[in-house]
Amino acid sequence: MTDRTDKAAPRMTGEIGSYHAHVYYDPATSRGEAERLRHWVGERFAVTLGRWHDVKVGPHDQAMYQVAFAAEVFAQLVPWLMLNHGSLSILVHPNTTNPRRDHLADALWIGTPLAVHGDRLPEHAEMEHAPTPNTTPALRP
Ligand code: ZN
Repeated sequence: MTDRTDKAAPRMTGEIGSYHAHVYYDPATSRGEAERLRHWVGERFAVTLGRWHDVKVGPHDQAMYQVAFAAEVFAQLVPWLMLNHGSLSILVHPNTTNPRRDHLADALWIGTPLAVHGDRLPEHAEMEHAPTPNTTPALRP
């Protein structure tokens, strides 16, 4: 991982193309809770709800689904998730051109932190901008 602490200038938030929130659950015990949270999010926020991954994928150490969203959504969605995650763990990370750093060094956790296998992530990637939302929010957060 590149150590940038010696650089004189701070990184700028324009580096962030979008965000992900990874909502983790246990298929045996908390899938229902994860379904309820997903439904609530879809009713309230213009985001892209990703597929269910009932088995571990990529750097993730537990079943999860992804919520992809634009930077403008962060200030409403993330505090709402802080209040409504219940027993679920959620990893919120920026998307820059360094997925490994995004997930390991620059992420935040809501709920209990879990392992992330950053060695499975590249240090360089194309910028990931938020996809067109697949929700039709009708309720206020
Ligand atoms: Zn992600």
